[in-house]
Amino acid sequence: MQSDQQLLKEIRACTICQDLPLGPNPILQFSSKAKILVAGQAPGQITHHKGKPFDDASGDRLRDWLGIDRDTFYDPEKLAVVPMGFCYPGKGKSGDLAPKAICAETWRKKILRELPDIELTLVIGKYAMDWHLPNRQERNLTETVKNWRHYIEQDTPVMPLPHPSPRNNIWLKKNPWFEEQLIPELKNLVTALLAPDKE
Ligand code: SF4
Repeated sequence: MQSDQQLLKEIRACTICQDLPLGPNPILQFSSKAKILVAGQAPGQITHHKGKPFDDASGDRLRDWLGIDRDTFYDPEKLAVVPMGFCYPGKGKSGDLAPKAICAETWRKKILRELPDIELTLVIGKYAMDWHLPNRQERNLTETVKNWRHYIEQDTPVMPLPHPSPRNNIWLKKNPWFEEQLIPELKNLVTALLAPDKE
């Protein structure tokens, strides 16, 4: 078995966190051939039951932002979907709890070592920004996303994004530049990276 698949098998058998309300159920996808990394937060309760990342309204919006269909999105040789926590962490007073920090501490660097061909990282939400853009964020998430041109010009391009959840509809309305300027550029980048002659 290839080392990326061996690692995936190890992660899928992980039971480090004993206090998960629904028990361990790591949900992620990757292959060493992936070109784009989707770094999100952690699965929600519905995703826990479905066993598939972004198989919901948030995923539909994310695929729309990227300009890709489901087959492309769920092809691990194209996209790695590696959230900051792989298992549903449970609910807090204001939504889902934070991803288990031990998850990224245990697995994230090992996974990133297995992904040598990543040319674009989509960093979704605060937890992923803290990991992938340490000390490089603006004063809040909106300002960081607004500064997207700066991050995609780096040697390892990163695109900071808000969560595509319908709960962020108000944010999207308040920040029309996001869909007018950032999204067309994001679609262009993704199309170029996934073009057959790039494989
Ligand atoms: S959240 Fe991560 S570390 Fe915890 S049990 Fe799931 S895979 Fe393991």
